[in-house]
Amino acid sequence: MDCLFCKIIAGEIPGTKVYEDEDVYAFRDINPIAPVHVLIVPKKHISGASEINSDNSAVVAKIFEAAAKIARAEGYPDSFRIVTNCGEDAGQTVHHLHFHLLAGVKMGWSANTGI
Ligand code: AMP
Ligand code: ZN
Repeated sequence: MDCLFCKIIAGEIPGTKVYEDEDVYAFRDINPIAPVHVLIVPKKHISGASEINSDNSAVVAKIFEAAAKIARAEGYPDSFRIVTNCGEDAGQTVHHLHFHLLAGVKMGWSANTGI
């Protein structure tokens, strides 16, 4: 499958890994928008949040467990944002489910919707 994040997980494309366990992989975003900007992904390919279902949703809990661990390790144990973009209108550019973990800056709340 021609998926950028599957290739990063497989080590075929370089990435800066910050966390890995049996089901979850996390690496630094190549174009960070905050001092901490980590992408947390399931190792098993899921194309986006709209594809989460009762067969694969357990990994989402694991991703949030990993997020808390990573935030602690990065020095922001109790102040961070987790975002997932799904589909064209939300600006999803990589079609492998990923959660942006953002921390280290005071964030506004507009979600960049443009409205
Ligand atoms: P999204 O727009 O929500 O689909 O997010 C995709 C994210 O992947 C963007 O924030 C990109 O900066 C990031 N990205 C794209 N290519 C790479 C890469 N090779 N390594 C790390 N992050 C990447
Ligand atoms: Zn993938």
